[in-house]
Amino acid sequence: MRDQRSNPGVPADRTCDRCGEAKPPSDFSNREASVCRRCRRIARFSRAARRAAIAHLIAAHQAEYEALLRREQAKQGQPPTERRGGSDVV
Ligand SMILES: [Zn+2]
Repeated sequence: MRDQRSNPGVPADRTCDRCGEAKPPSDFSNREASVCRRCRRIARFSRAARRAAIAHLIAAHQAEYEALLRREQAKQGQPPTERRGGSDVV
């Protein structure tokens, strides 16, 4: 029945928000991190994979993407993106 907050010499295990496992603080990159190192690494990889997939998607649907992009920019009051070269864009 010891309050762990009053006993900083023995760091309490923390529960990862992602995998739900209780792990020692050394498995977290810092005090604020709510996700353990392993889950962070997995998230980074999947983010890189997502970015790559999105790049492929854009390449396959470039005209559609640009139209959507311009629509979103207009919605947010941003000026349209400068076209680079643009010989393939009407
Ligand atoms: Zn985790």
